[in-house]
Amino acid sequence: MTEVHRVDDENTDEAKITSSLQSSVYAGDPPKLIAVDGSPVAGHGTGAHASPTTANGDTSVKIDNKPVNSKNDADSCGHLRDAGESSVIIGPE
Ligand SMILES: [Zn+2]
Repeated sequence: MTEVHRVDDENTDEAKITSSLQSSVYAGDPPKLIAVDGSPVAGHGTGAHASPTTANGDTSVKIDNKPVNSKNDADSCGHLRDAGESSVIIGPE
């Protein structure tokens, strides 16, 4: 199980999620929207890293039928999601 990712959480290259494709489920204090697959990530380089999105979310936990993102999910550029919101953990053990 890993920590959910929200808007402003970073990948291993310190690139933050800039917004979420869902607008109704929050986590943390202050609350921030939980990210689902396809949510935009800040650009942090060229090529695949220029305008990546989140990807590889947990298919067993969905919001608006989109998989929820958590720590160690690879973004579309290949960088992994880093530390998330530890008060909400999801996925298989
Ligand atoms: Zn990247």
